[in-house]
Amino acid sequence: MTTPLVRFAPSPTGYLHIGNARPALLNYLFARRQGGRFLLRLDDTDRERSTEEFAGAIHEDLAWLGITPDLFARQSERTARYEVAKEALSAQGRLYPCYETPEELDRRRKRQLGRGLPPIYDRAALNLTVEEKAAFAAQGRRPHWRFKLDHKVVTWNDLVRGDSHVDCASLSDPVLIREDGTALYTLPSVVDDGEMGVTHVIRGEDHVTNTGVQVQIFEALGFPVPIFAHHNLLITADGEGLSKRLGHLSLRSLREAGYEPAAVDSLAVLTGTSEAVRAVASLDELADLVDLGRISRAPARFDPAELDVVNAQLVHAMPFTEARERLLALGVAEETAEVFWTVVRANLGKVAEASEWWRIVAGPVSPVIQDAGFAERALSLLPDRPFDAATWKSWTEAVKQQTGAKGRALFMPLRLALTGLDHGPDLAGLLPLIGRERAIRRLAGESA
Ligand code: GLU
Repeated sequence: MTTPLVRFAPSPTGYLHIGNARPALLNYLFARRQGGRFLLRLDDTDRERSTEEFAGAIHEDLAWLGITPDLFARQSERTARYEVAKEALSAQGRLYPCYETPEELDRRRKRQLGRGLPPIYDRAALNLTVEEKAAFAAQGRRPHWRFKLDHKVVTWNDLVRGDSHVDCASLSDPVLIREDGTALYTLPSVVDDGEMGVTHVIRGEDHVTNTGVQVQIFEALGFPVPIFAHHNLLITADGEGLSKRLGHLSLRSLREAGYEPAAVDSLAVLTGTSEAVRAVASLDELADLVDLGRISRAPARFDPAELDVVNAQLVHAMPFTEARERLLALGVAEETAEVFWTVVRANLGKVAEASEWWRIVAGPVSPVIQDAGFAERALSLLPDRPFDAATWKSWTEAVKQQTGAKGRALFMPLRLALTGLDHGPDLAGLLPLIGRERAIRRLAGESA
């Protein structure tokens, strides 16, 4: 068996969003599991809308997800290959010039619809005589080129959808070449997949109809037809498709908002499959869970709130070694960083929230003293040394004995005095980090 080669082929016309992460990851994880290779190909034939900035962002965003392509190509550098394919299809009579303007085509479509007919291109251009074509050329009109479909049913065994078919008799002959001579997506994609030896085309189900057409082009150009897998698309909770307009779900805004890449990976891959959506910390583990055959046929409903849940799961289980650099960057002192992490991580939704708890540890905190007498007595009972994980228990026992306060009435005033907050990580862990000096000052009502 040949080594599988898959590709992710975005157009650099916007920032990648979580919906694009799905095909990127499904391809990458498939290659990883099968010992195959992953090609990143920029579908940048649309020169007006493609930008270098977006192209660069695609590399960065994939790297953030954990994807390192094995191969890279861009269509704008391969126009000569599309020219060759165009000639080959023309020579077979499969590509024919058309001169209709968009307005003419529109009028025709409306007429067909008015008569209850499907709005399919009627192939009028196939009947143009040599003289008529010459007359158009003399007027300065340049043709666009359509691929002459075989009116047959194209079938394939889809790795997600099983037996699949497209009846090409119900489709318009697709335009492959624009008036300015540049190729539209449909042809370059086939030429690249064919020449580069792509074995599996894993992409969204919005491309099912394209597959019918492209299989015919693969065959016409003499390429082996790859295996196809069309996955369901991520949609928002209210049923909307994810488009590049949904800026807050772009991978860069998710990164800037402090989400873990593994949270985005987990959600982008597991939503809409038979696996429960949950935090999966490594791409290897995720690769083992991905089975194209177990992707649902229904759209994958994506709930941003789930991203928070999954992110928190990852943070709660995150080993110190992984958090270390980021904690130091947040200003956490190196000598206590590990203990600090084990004390606070269960209270975090995102790693960056640790900075707020570090402020509670290192100060300044404005203590909230509800009952000065109580705080004073508690202060007088504060143990001396050692000041460690056992201190909280022995101290609160003593305060309970002396004041008779228990439960919430005992713990809440102490928490408010020590942290200025009514919630937070376990005080047994926090108190030694706060330290005796600061605890004394806070119990005395001083900002420290
Ligand atoms: N550039 C196409 C897209 O982003 C690629 C589709 C394909 O995978 O063939 O939809």
